[in-house]
Amino acid sequence: MTIAVKRVPIKARKRLQTLMHDYFLNLDAAATDSNRNVAWCTSVGPCEILTAFGYEVYFPENHGAMLGARKISHECIPAAVAIGYSAESCSYMTSDIGSALSGVSPLTEAFGISGPPKPDLLCYNTNQCREVQDWWNFFGRRHNAPVMGIGPPTHLDLVTEAHTDFVRNELSQLITRIESQTGTKMDWAKLEEAVDKSSKASSLWRKVLDTAQSHPSPITFFDGLIHMAPVILMRGSQHAIDYYTLLLAEMNERTNAKEAAVTNERFRIYWDGMPVWPKVREMSEKFFDLGLCVAASTYCNSWAFEEYTGGDPLAWMAKTSTKIFINRDETFKQKFLLDMCKQFDIDGMIFHNARTCPNNTNSRFGMAQRLRDESGLPVLVFDGDLSDVRFFSTAQTMTNIETFVEQLEGRCR
Ligand code: SF4
Repeated sequence: MTIAVKRVPIKARKRLQTLMHDYFLNLDAAATDSNRNVAWCTSVGPCEILTAFGYEVYFPENHGAMLGARKISHECIPAAVAIGYSAESCSYMTSDIGSALSGVSPLTEAFGISGPPKPDLLCYNTNQCREVQDWWNFFGRRHNAPVMGIGPPTHLDLVTEAHTDFVRNELSQLITRIESQTGTKMDWAKLEEAVDKSSKASSLWRKVLDTAQSHPSPITFFDGLIHMAPVILMRGSQHAIDYYTLLLAEMNERTNAKEAAVTNERFRIYWDGMPVWPKVREMSEKFFDLGLCVAASTYCNSWAFEEYTGGDPLAWMAKTSTKIFINRDETFKQKFLLDMCKQFDIDGMIFHNARTCPNNTNSRFGMAQRLRDESGLPVLVFDGDLSDVRFFSTAQTMTNIETFVEQLEGRCR
């Protein structure tokens, strides 16, 4: 008789559900309150500035991920394609635009609200890609709201003082533009407070992710995809700090009790690139059944910033937002991944070639093969997408993963 092995759920998830519910209801209320304002922001955009100006901050990329995870994206993308957005461009963008055009949102089923809050301002940082600018411009036109942003130097190996000075200056100009748009002066004490809270939340999140260095790991990439929400959506707030304090305590308890995220952890994997949101559950179950624990990823690490120790808050924002992994060149990324594989004692690497996001895909210019040669670790590259399932074959990918496991087993013989 085979006994089904059960996962031990992460208890903090209940708290997370309440936090998310409160976050979206607060945004919804702010959007209809003439005394409050909502700003849209990119995932590693200048949200601390927006918080300091008193905006409630909403992150459309999270809506893009929800559209994928709830398997709605494929219904929405055609509406964006019909008005001229390429089906080969970012499927977060096309599904989000399509969602607005079709009047469909996962927020209705999840939180009982009609959809994303109407923006009073849209703010971006192209440190991740230029697509966000065009995406924001669509909604700026639609809602007749101002769109502002910064464009730092990209594809960097070393991040120098000249780079961060340049970005700091852009942030400073952004503040001036918001001040003249709103007639409100920046509250510098509030900005410092928001930066301090962001830094604390982010450093707790890093500690949570670092617990995956334990054997067995108490957390996987698939858990990280759920629990990273507060560090993106609420990172300038006390809510995120409290949440990660709770989650870290639970991860430490699990580590001490040797409670594994993947019971019978056999192999430890590094995952490169984005998740396949509509297939996260199936993939998570497959990995669990095969004893594969995804102990490290750069995706979940994208919001693990270095600490703010006081001083100029704009300098901290400039440095942390320019240094993010996605904004670096191949030389930096390759070295970073090698170090990560050592740190997390990785047995093999999986690269997701996401069709509509070249920016968060690192397997297009031979890096996977170079890493295989340098580290001696087996590497699998699979084709897919973050949200558009037309680019993903479940059967083919699952077969490829099984073959990859055979390779990992072969190394142990
Ligand atoms: S990084 Fe990729 S998924 Fe994210 S907004 Fe840019 S193109 Fe879209």
